Amino acid sequence: MPRAREAFIGLGSNLGQPKKHLMFALERLASLPGYTAGAVSSLYKTAAVGKTDQPAFYNAVCRGMYEGTPGELLRALQALEAARGRERSERWGPRTLDLDILLLGELVMDQPDLQVPHPRLHERGFVLIPLAELAPELLLPRWGKTAGQLWQELDPAEKAGQEVEKVSWA
Ligand code: ATP
Ligand code: CA
Ligand code: CA
Repeated sequence: MPRAREAFIGLGSNLGQPKKHLMFALERLASLPGYTAGAVSSLYKTAAVGKTDQPAFYNAVCRGMYEGTPGELLRALQALEAARGRERSERWGPRTLDLDILLLGELVMDQPDLQVPHPRLHERGFVLIPLAELAPELLLPRWGKTAGQLWQELDPAEKAGQEVEKVSWA
């Protein structure tokens, strides 16, 4: 059994009933073998970035301890996405459920199908803001900075249009 690592997982949805998809993922994660669930961030709503002709996104981040390999966690997350009827069509297009591995302890890996930390984490408000909420002091591997610092240092042009709004889980 690999050693346990602290996992931060990013959750996103912008199709159907986003909150239900995210709550489904949190429930199923809590019973995933090898995963011990910890705190969940607030829920954040963001207008779609990049491909903007699609519904707003709902995002959150959860933390927990994970004892399997990174590849096992990725496959488990993909199975949860599939269980929610996610169809992999266009990249960055609308989806019922998107589960990304953001961080796995101090691990830094760069494989074609799996990069950890998530390589675009530092340019996304919908990741950095909930991450800063859950772990304000944590220095992220690869950057050696906190999530809050990365958000503050982000180029204003990249921040534009990324206003996140805290919304209720209820
Ligand atoms: P983005 O990765 O920019 O957030 P996306 O989530 O829309 O985009 P997907 O279509 O969900 O992208 O995933 C594309 C591929 O990304 C997956 O098949 C997976 O192999 C790969 N991938 C690489 N690193 C990670 C990671 N840290 N977490 C989840 N998937 C990853
Ligand atoms: Ca994603
Ligand atoms: Ca993904």
